[in-house]
Amino acid sequence: MFDLLALTLAGQAPANQQGENLNVRWRWLGEGLLEITPRQAYRQAVVLSAGIHGNETAPIELLNQWVNTLLAGERPLAVRLLVVLGNPAAIRAGKRYLHSDMNRMFGGRYRDFNHSGETVRAQQLEQVIAAFFDGEEAERFHYDLHTAIRESRLPRFGILPFQTRPYSADMLAVLDAADLDALVIHSAPGGTFSHFSSEHAAAASCTLELGKAKPFGSNDLQQFAAINRALQAVVSGEPLPSRPGVALRLFRVEQSLIKRSEDFRLHLSDDTANFTELKQGTLLCEQPGEEYRVQHASEWILFPNPAVALGLRAGMVLTEVPRSTLY
Ligand SMILES: [Zn+2]
Repeated sequence: MFDLLALTLAGQAPANQQGENLNVRWRWLGEGLLEITPRQAYRQAVVLSAGIHGNETAPIELLNQWVNTLLAGERPLAVRLLVVLGNPAAIRAGKRYLHSDMNRMFGGRYRDFNHSGETVRAQQLEQVIAAFFDGEEAERFHYDLHTAIRESRLPRFGILPFQTRPYSADMLAVLDAADLDALVIHSAPGGTFSHFSSEHAAAASCTLELGKAKPFGSNDLQQFAAINRALQAVVSGEPLPSRPGVALRLFRVEQSLIKRSEDFRLHLSDDTANFTELKQGTLLCEQPGEEYRVQHASEWILFPNPAVALGLRAGMVLTEVPRSTLY
């Protein structure tokens, strides 16, 4: 039987590049790319992607399970669906990336990186997303699934791209149902896959960080049960599960810490967890001519990484904001 992940891991094209069952028609669009269209009318067009970072295995396995149940006719498909395994070469190598981080390259930013398999793939993914949504009148969504490398005080969270139009209430309902701990709102455009689909395809789009991943086959997929139920409900057009936990917390990016000098110093230990709370006045980072001290009573650190290349983001500082910020 057709298995997108097995084919991608083997670096093979399928013998049959399209097929159908009683519920769906499917088309293989290239390495790690599968379009599945329901036979019935649909009201949503959804992109589900994973493996933009190749070592983030759990979401790749989840996504592949969903595809297999759809292709086997075991679950109904209520939306037009594009499945993307983002970085096949890195997935095969079990690495985050081989040359450069693809999730900085979207929106044409791949031109700013040295030519590599990843710059080529980022450009291809932009074209595939544009083609999938081209002329599509259904409501558009993109969920880009990741797992974090470091510990996190709030283990499961979504990151909303900067956009000037309101965020989709339908997407926010899904994120609530997925039992996320937090949402982070970007305050500036960026090179992420989800920012691209928001800005260039007008999709309701979100990056999801779903916990920590292990090698293929070693993941405890139970850890991902809530996101599993919520996105399966989306794909099959079923009612969303009710949120079991406490309300999700909302943060906004206050400041991106850009590394401008090799003398950049971040005053956090290497194992500082995401969403570690920092108190006002704390010296957080410094480089020649510049320092950053915590401005508000509390700020929170996200993705601290002083080892990034010059010109890239060495971390983000967040403030907590009310839910009304979303509307
Ligand atoms: Zn990732």
